[in-house]
Amino acid sequence: MTGIETAEADLRARAESDGVEFFFAMFVDLHGKPCAKMIPVQALSVLTGGGAGFAGFAAGPMGQTPADPDMIAVPDLDSYTLAPWQPGLAVVQCDIHVEGEPWPYTPRLILKGVLERARARGLVYNVGCEAEYFLVRRTDDGGITVADPLDRSGAPCYDAKGLTRMYEHLTTVSKYMNQLGWSNYANDHEDANGQFEQNFAYSDALTSADRLIFYRYMVHTLAHQAGMAATFMPKPFADLTGNGLHMHSSLWDAQTGAELFADPADPRGLGLSPMAYSYAAGLIDHAQALAAITCPTVNSYKRFGVGAPNSGATWAPAYATYGGNNRTQMLRIPEGGRIENRGCDGSANPYLAMAAQLAAGLDGIDRELDPGEPNRDNLHVLPAGEVAKRGIKSLPPTLLHAADALVADEVLREALGKTPGGDYVDYYAKVKREEFQAWHSVVSDWETSRYLTLF
Ligand code: GLU
Ligand code: MG
Repeated sequence: MTGIETAEADLRARAESDGVEFFFAMFVDLHGKPCAKMIPVQALSVLTGGGAGFAGFAAGPMGQTPADPDMIAVPDLDSYTLAPWQPGLAVVQCDIHVEGEPWPYTPRLILKGVLERARARGLVYNVGCEAEYFLVRRTDDGGITVADPLDRSGAPCYDAKGLTRMYEHLTTVSKYMNQLGWSNYANDHEDANGQFEQNFAYSDALTSADRLIFYRYMVHTLAHQAGMAATFMPKPFADLTGNGLHMHSSLWDAQTGAELFADPADPRGLGLSPMAYSYAAGLIDHAQALAAITCPTVNSYKRFGVGAPNSGATWAPAYATYGGNNRTQMLRIPEGGRIENRGCDGSANPYLAMAAQLAAGLDGIDRELDPGEPNRDNLHVLPAGEVAKRGIKSLPPTLLHAADALVADEVLREALGKTPGGDYVDYYAKVKREEFQAWHSVVSDWETSRYLTLF
């Protein structure tokens, strides 16, 4: 049998034993929007024989015009995932090819490229994601409100009663994660009314990114089935804490499996190795450019800053700093061996966010950067003069600033690769600048109420 025939036979056998009737051949665009075609098991050879065809321009920013040939979604069979809520459905994540060649605008392929370069240096990149989200309902006037009408407390974090009222939804998500073998280890009511977080174990970066895409899709589906909407947008309510997508990174030795970020003898007492410190310094050095990828929407920049929402704290960073177990820093070190980046929000495309972080961190390692002593202050209240005196840099105030920083960053330019139209970062920045301009061209209620009769 040829390789294709073997793959087809394997997939057919697996589909039969799992009772699969349909496949979703899935990929994400630049924004991380999951796109899919549904393929019945009878047409399985479409998947294994070449892949499902898509008109790329219609899917989202994928570097295509309406005149371009089909994007072919080639499944990665390692990503085969049964949809726990829908017997008979399996999802496979795909890599896009055009005219037989890998299509360099594919976020999943961009991550694979950076991971391969790390592996060539003997490094495995592991990532854990904490995806916060709100459960809301649409109101008649087109707005949104927290789905649970009783979730009104000024300090709702960890509220056992709030957790109880959403028991059905939360336990369903938890059971499904465990059914998938993801090891759900915690579920909580987060800091904002209507906000939750459900955690699954870390894994290698590609698996974690695939899971995050599936997770968001699953949470949306289950919320919808229960008459609600889930949102991962960074700041759905101006007066409440936003949605972070904290990412915990670590590097491991590909040969020995040794944990390279851990050092119990760390003289700074954080349990980090010199390599981990250099990685952190790389993230800090590239923080403004990185934000364009890890905080990729106009809404992202409403989550940052030192101003407190109703609960008393944003828990989101304002500055590019690191500290120990201190949630006012961009980088928190909760324990030895890993680095949490809190400067990443729910709108991030996980493939691009992981690729960019790894590239920034590796640059720090190559240059043997040192981030200095950990920051121990509450940075949400540190006076501006003191911030300036210490040379602490702010995170970008808007998406436009972040896009400008991204195009000026040579390391991320190189890492995210080349496309037929130029460097991917230029394409990405163009899409994001247009997004900024589209938002900026809307005259908001705030403007009319402030300026209408002021002058
Ligand atoms: N929701 C906060 C954020 O936007 C994080 C809260 C937490 O520390 O879990 O990053
Ligand atoms: Mg959280």
